[in-house]
Amino acid sequence: MYKKNLFIILGLILFAQICSLFAGINFDQFFVDKTMRVDYFHTGTKGFEVISLDKVYEEPAVISHDKKMWAGNKKNLIDTMNLGKYLAKVIDVKSNQIIYSRGFCSLYGEWETTGEAEKGMYRTFHESVLFPFPKDKVQLVIAVRDKENYFHDIFSTVIDPNSRFVNRERHTPAYKVDSMIKSGDPHKKVDLVILGDGYTKKEMKKYKKDLRHFVDELFDATPFDKNKDEFNVWYIETPSEDSGIDEPRKNIWRSTVFGCSYNSFDSPRYVLTFENKAIRDIASLVPYDQIYIIFNSERYGGGGIFNLYSTCYSTDKGERSHWWPDYVFVHEFGHAFGGLGDEYYTSDVAYNEFYPQGVDPWEPNVAIIQNGHIKWENKMEKDTPIPTPWGKAAYDSLDKVLRSLDRTADDYSEKYKQIITERDKQLEDQKFFGKVGAYEGSGYASEGLYRPFMDCRMFSKSLVDFCPVCNNALERMIEFQTE
Ligand SMILES: [Zn+2]
Repeated sequence: MYKKNLFIILGLILFAQICSLFAGINFDQFFVDKTMRVDYFHTGTKGFEVISLDKVYEEPAVISHDKKMWAGNKKNLIDTMNLGKYLAKVIDVKSNQIIYSRGFCSLYGEWETTGEAEKGMYRTFHESVLFPFPKDKVQLVIAVRDKENYFHDIFSTVIDPNSRFVNRERHTPAYKVDSMIKSGDPHKKVDLVILGDGYTKKEMKKYKKDLRHFVDELFDATPFDKNKDEFNVWYIETPSEDSGIDEPRKNIWRSTVFGCSYNSFDSPRYVLTFENKAIRDIASLVPYDQIYIIFNSERYGGGGIFNLYSTCYSTDKGERSHWWPDYVFVHEFGHAFGGLGDEYYTSDVAYNEFYPQGVDPWEPNVAIIQNGHIKWENKMEKDTPIPTPWGKAAYDSLDKVLRSLDRTADDYSEKYKQIITERDKQLEDQKFFGKVGAYEGSGYASEGLYRPFMDCRMFSKSLVDFCPVCNNALERMIEFQTE
């Protein structure tokens, strides 16, 4: 009898231990509901990088809630998505366990694949990592993937949250903040903050009109349409001194709040900002998980970096007679929010060596074929071959014609439309159109990299939906941040 009870007790203890393992990290045991921000400098050249600490902050009270808070999910503290070139890990010093982790990408990570780094030039970028405010001493570790995509630690520091080395000042001017969509508790919602760059005080009306338009556009697109109530959308009114943004290749320079610029990494339509501190200081006025910067320009451009920010131009010439900015807005958010890669392969992008040969990219929608298998094959029908034929040669020759068109000609948009229609028709005629497969041509490479669908919001410059694989990745991310 006694033995039997002992077994029951031991069984119960074991059961409780297993339960606690699966329950994940208990937020209240390790954190208080505030945000810690660690700023650092990321320096290096091709093949060498170093991270040096700048400042540690206790983020100020968010204006919108009149209190300090952590905007992220309190339940899913450990990142299970395995996305991003970098991984930040927070380790509780006492128990030596990881209590928070998050994958992300960075400006440095993109820059190191450009020609400048290739030539051995050194550069420095300012970056931040945010995590819930720890109760006790923690060790912050930053890891980077090697060429085979395994993580290696490149930075480590111990932070005492109760020490004088944590800056607690309010570091942000009190810009006006408001919300466009209010769905509920920021801990359980994806909090998107929209910032405007290159809008003057007089143009605040235009800024609000632009952002309203884009937010409508985002929540018209799948899977965001079905998940609108999982999002809070905030915006901050940040008037710039000048109207418009920098265009170095045209010798146009503007003084703006966030310093957005065309020709980033010397790519014509790539728009980024390197003013990380300004962005983080201002965004901290609201609870946020994602940052979107709309810049006031009629010229095509944008950018999106996973878990950093997205940028998009505001209007196309002719007051939105064109849908290109709408395409850009959602496409860039696919990068920044979902960690999706570009599925296109002919575009003239600045960076090379982005995907080392023979290595399966970490992006969920770009892949190599390994021994006849591809990572999303569980979403494919059994009779779909790997690789999947899709009339690539015909597509490529039409694409060449498209690229050779004279953009300044009067009949440019007419001819453009004509070719696009022909190209779409040619895709629709393919046997495996509308089916998940392994279609060659993806991630800027015409050969060796594959995409899951013939067409997708990450592939063609059109308002087509995200493909099933991208859609699934975005839905997983929404669930991860909101459950
Ligand atoms: Zn896709």
